[in-house]
Amino acid sequence: MSERLGFIGLGIMGRGMAHNLRKAGYDLMVWNRTAARADSLRAAGAQVATSPADLAANCDVIFSCVSDTPDVQAVILGDQGVIHGVRPGALVVDMSTISPQVAREVAEALAAKDVFSLDAPVSGGSEGAEKGTLSIMVGGPADQVARAQPYFAAMGKTITHVGPSGAGQTVKLVNQILVVVNMLAVSEALVFAQASGADLEKTLQAVGGGAAGSWMLANRAPQVLNRDWRPGFTIDLQQKDLRLVLEAADQVAAPMIATSMVFHMYRTLQQSGLGAEGNHALIKALERLAGVTVGGSAPA
Ligand code: NAP
Repeated sequence: MSERLGFIGLGIMGRGMAHNLRKAGYDLMVWNRTAARADSLRAAGAQVATSPADLAANCDVIFSCVSDTPDVQAVILGDQGVIHGVRPGALVVDMSTISPQVAREVAEALAAKDVFSLDAPVSGGSEGAEKGTLSIMVGGPADQVARAQPYFAAMGKTITHVGPSGAGQTVKLVNQILVVVNMLAVSEALVFAQASGADLEKTLQAVGGGAAGSWMLANRAPQVLNRDWRPGFTIDLQQKDLRLVLEAADQVAAPMIATSMVFHMYRTLQQSGLGAEGNHALIKALERLAGVTVGGSAPA
């Protein structure tokens, strides 16, 4: 008999992921703190639980995708949390981006109840969540990764078992270092091009296909040129991830020179009320220092 699945956290990411599990035909129960956000899943045939504990009591494999470390602690270990309903032998898969250390602590608390767990954060944005094309970085025991594989395949395209418990979160933080430092390079390059009077469209055409090409350059630089700050990933959530990077790096004494610089640049943007803009709005911090505006004619 196939396993019954549960999904906690139906935000920008979780909603698309849960819908993809339903589309793949799985028996699904969902829970979201703001109940109205579960309506589309109910309409798609999912059952709606009254609490994470209620959901856990009725499911074999429980997924969660909520905002930050304390939120995962709340839905898994809190008063109405998964841990109070979950059955021995069940599997809990957290797909939020959180502290690797807390991911290991949550796994230990669940293991004490004979419950398995995986940390499986994702990359690929809201678009990837909706289309089922996410990259999923998984930490935990191999047999449980194999157990979750068909469910991951409904939500993502690139599924990589990267190591033991917590390793998924560590690799996700590696991903975030690469993303933001690359965005810093894109920003600095565009400010220089603008200040030098280069044709920006032609500049992107010329450098995009060579050694300097990247996903951020291809996807976010054109948005910058159009002064389009709609988020694929907000500055607020990006900043949360950089805080996790800096905390984890501190524990292993790894210097984070460029990442900490970007962390503080994003902070200046948050302080000016831009936290809901996309992470490519990083360029605004450099524009202010340089006294130039890239692309569109009006200053931001
Ligand atoms: P979101 O749209 O803000 O949704 C957050 C979800 O978490 C909502 O369902 C929210 O419930 C729930 N939640 C937050 N705090 C909670 C708490 N204390 N108790 C119960 N539920 C709580 O965020 P998102 O973009 O889906 O991101 C979710 C996770 O995926 C984050 O860890 C993020 O870093 C990661 N991620 C996001 C992206 C992206 O492009 N957006 C990409 C990769 C990874 P309510 O509806 O009640 O607020």
